[in-house]
Amino acid sequence: MSGSADLESLSRMLAGADRVVAFTGAGISTESGIPDFRSPGGIWTRYDPRDFIFDRYVAEPEVRANSWAMRRAFFAANARPNAAHRALARLEAVGPLATIITQNIDGLHQEAGSQHVIEIHGTAREVACIGVHPVGGAPDGCGFVAPHTWAFEQLDAGVDDPGCPDCGGLVKSATISFGQQMPLDAVRRAQAEVAACDLLLVVGSSLQVYPAAALPGEARRYGAQVVIVNDEPTDLDDLAHLVVRGRAGEVLAAAVAGIDSDAPG
Ligand code: NAD
Repeated sequence: MSGSADLESLSRMLAGADRVVAFTGAGISTESGIPDFRSPGGIWTRYDPRDFIFDRYVAEPEVRANSWAMRRAFFAANARPNAAHRALARLEAVGPLATIITQNIDGLHQEAGSQHVIEIHGTAREVACIGVHPVGGAPDGCGFVAPHTWAFEQLDAGVDDPGCPDCGGLVKSATISFGQQMPLDAVRRAQAEVAACDLLLVVGSSLQVYPAAALPGEARRYGAQVVIVNDEPTDLDDLAHLVVRGRAGEVLAAAVAGIDSDAPG
């Protein structure tokens, strides 16, 4: 892990900022037992990425069955928020953290108590109608949305391929697959938050996919400071004012504890 000087710098920067926005990736949830994408033992060593292409989900019942099996395994693991999720929730409660923008679909920020979370890749905790035959990676659903447990109940009742009870369309986890259009509203809100912050705190992202890869540069263009907390180098480390190398739980717990002692409640 980076030295105590880096932690002190991070703590000082957080305490001195008026509006912090955290941007989190899969690395913030590995300490909860959810593997990230790219590390050894990560998700793509166990599943075929080609099974997560939107058009294949639409076209092939077998892909949909694999996808539901993966979701079942995901929730069976019963992951809980870790020290990093809790530290960010605390940072919001005591003041400087305005919003978390996350690439994660696990819902652990909200479970840790964070109130303002923008999920730019959607959530695994819900399912949604995507329409009868959506084309061009654009969901075309009727508006049906349900908790993920609704789909699991259908599967338990022997329905192999749960369909929309309102329009008969396909139902899919409310996450963004490869080849699926990004949720424009969430991306716009994320960009507006980055433009309005004075400190962007990036945690546990390899910063290799867009729009994630663009956010630190945007933050700098708007005059914000950028901090990257990650356990390995990222391509954008040169762009950061401070890089703290280490495990997210340890780094954030220590940094937030440093500003927490003066805070109410
Ligand atoms: P990524 O896998 O590309 O990068 C994760 C980064 O976090 C890596 O650089 C890794 O070294 C680092 N890391 C891992 N554990 C860490 C820890 N304990 N402390 C600090 N750093 C740690 O993930 P990404 O950048 O988020 O992009 C990939 C995509 O993965 C996203 O689109 C996201 O939707 C999806 N995803 C989400 C989850 C989840 O919801 N928890 C899990 C896997 C993948």
